Amino acid sequence: MRTDGVGVSLLWFRRDLRLEDSAALARAAECGLPIVGMYAFHTGDLPADARQHTVVYRQLSILDDAIRAKTGGGLLIFRADDGVFSDALRRRFSHENIKAVFANDVDDPRERERERIMQSICEAHGIPFFRTHDATIYPHDTIVKPDGSPYGVYTPYARRWRERFHIELADPVIPEKKPVWDTTPRQFPTLKSLGIHERETPETVVKIDDTLLREYAQTRDLLDHPHPTSRIGTALAIGAVSIRHAVRRAIEADSQTFLSELVWREFFHMLICHAPETIQTAYQPHLRGIEWGHDERSTEMWKAGKTGFPLVDAGMRELSETGYMPNRLRMLSANFLCKLLRTDWRLGERHFAGQLSDYDPASNTGNWQWSAGIGADSVPYFRIFSPTRQIQRFDPEGAYRSQWLDDEGEIEPIIDYERARREFLTWWKYSVLWKQ
Ligand SMILES: Cc1cc2nc3c(=O)[nH]c(=O)nc-3n(C[C@H](O)[C@H](O)[C@H](O)COP(=O)(O)OP(=O)(O)OC[C@H]3O[C@@H](n4cnc5c(N)ncnc54)[C@H](O)[C@@H]3O)c2cc1C
Repeated sequence: MRTDGVGVSLLWFRRDLRLEDSAALARAAECGLPIVGMYAFHTGDLPADARQHTVVYRQLSILDDAIRAKTGGGLLIFRADDGVFSDALRRRFSHENIKAVFANDVDDPRERERERIMQSICEAHGIPFFRTHDATIYPHDTIVKPDGSPYGVYTPYARRWRERFHIELADPVIPEKKPVWDTTPRQFPTLKSLGIHERETPETVVKIDDTLLREYAQTRDLLDHPHPTSRIGTALAIGAVSIRHAVRRAIEADSQTFLSELVWREFFHMLICHAPETIQTAYQPHLRGIEWGHDERSTEMWKAGKTGFPLVDAGMRELSETGYMPNRLRMLSANFLCKLLRTDWRLGERHFAGQLSDYDPASNTGNWQWSAGIGADSVPYFRIFSPTRQIQRFDPEGAYRSQWLDDEGEIEPIIDYERARREFLTWWKYSVLWKQ
């Protein structure tokens, strides 16, 4: 154990990878001890080749440089596979003279489990563990129904959210004391040493343009527009910017539609806190026993963007090439997988988790369940998107498709849309509704 000086504070970074406007960092700074920033790669949460590992690694490198420039020694980064997190932590606790631990909350049940591990190790060492609220504007139990129970429907939740909102809630958190970083030299690990496969990722967008916000309500669904949406999702998912920043920008630009989208994020974060089991199972208990199918070949075609339905395929190819897919196409391709292919939503959720650079456990799970018709405030089971109608509405000139497909019309559709639609409706009526 390090015995020099008075010891250090451990700042446990997770989905809050920034040095500004962070509740946990402010609190650690106020404590006054030199801060050691720590990040553990949990490779079990995502596939080893998940794009977000690379995104996180790059952001950690930015933080590490910034901390070194402030005469700190750099971040403490290690890999913690499933089941070894507690051993990995114990080793760190035996090397560092840790006096307190600080962390921002993360709305992911797997992280809650890790907090319990951290808590018990802290207790064993007789040191405090401070967990601060930071991931959303309101803590999950603030916007609730008059009887104290959580909302299961977005509209009344959003109404209450707005009624209670005042701009100070979106003020940045500014520490009263300047953070002092621990100076112990630490080596920044290579991707290889962490067992992570490097992926192509665009730079993480952290700025939200004013014009975009003003035009957002009109542009957000346009597939042929150069900047229809903010692309702030990745920064929010890994915490490169705070949710306070995004909400403040929406209010300043008076972009109510953009704010509503951020409230959807809040809604899904609230839901996963109240119902952590939904990371794996349907939000609606009576829909938990559905026996979804899984046809290996069609799932692979869907992943590869080779279903023969050009808009679905174009979206899936943009996803695998860039780590991004517009919301409209996420809804279309999820609806296609769950309803027309009748495939278990969890397979789609895991595929998106591995591909999206903006993967967010609460939003991905919530949206997948919404699309499959088993989540909170979901699309009704009988709403099945027609890939042809979606083309007429959102890509009539084919600009988006031609950007991502070089073989449009060459792939035989893997299903007959009308037949698959009828079969789904019959299956749902007789196998799902009648079983209740
Ligand atoms: C099947 C499916 C899976 C999805 N998985 C994710 C995910 O893993 N991570 C994620 O952040 N979003 C997810 N979304 C929601 C949405 O598609 C993305 O947030 C959005 O496309 C990101 O692009 P943007 O940052 O340009 O968004 P903008 O349109 O500019 O919106 C701004 C921000 O609002 C939030 N937001 C917007 N729409 C939603 C929504 N429907 N639900 C929750 N938050 C929203 C996001 O934080 C987003 O960055 C998913 C949607 C579907 C249908």
